[in-house]
Amino acid sequence: MFDKNDWRLQGQEKYLKGVTLYLKKYIKSRDAWDHDHCEFCWTKFSLEDSPDHLDEGYATQDNYHWICKRCFGDFKDVFQWEIT
Ligand SMILES: [Zn+2]
Repeated sequence: MFDKNDWRLQGQEKYLKGVTLYLKKYIKSRDAWDHDHCEFCWTKFSLEDSPDHLDEGYATQDNYHWICKRCFGDFKDVFQWEIT
C-alpha cells in the first residue's frame, strides 16, 4: 500500500518520476565506486558476495540510480516507471 508519509520517500519524484528503468545485475555507476544504494530504502547494491548486499535491481539507463525490487514494487504505480 502506498503511503505518502513512507519514510523512504524523500523527494525522489523530482528525478525519478516517469523514468525508464532496466532490471539488471549491479554494475558500478562510477569507476571509483564499489557500491550504490537503493534510492528509497538505502539497501546496498554491490559486487561483494555478501548476503546483505543486492546484486540485481532496477536502474536508470546511466546506472546512477538504483532501486531494489521491494521498493520498485511499492512505488511503481506512483512513480509511473517505464520498464524495458
Ligand atoms: Zn529499496
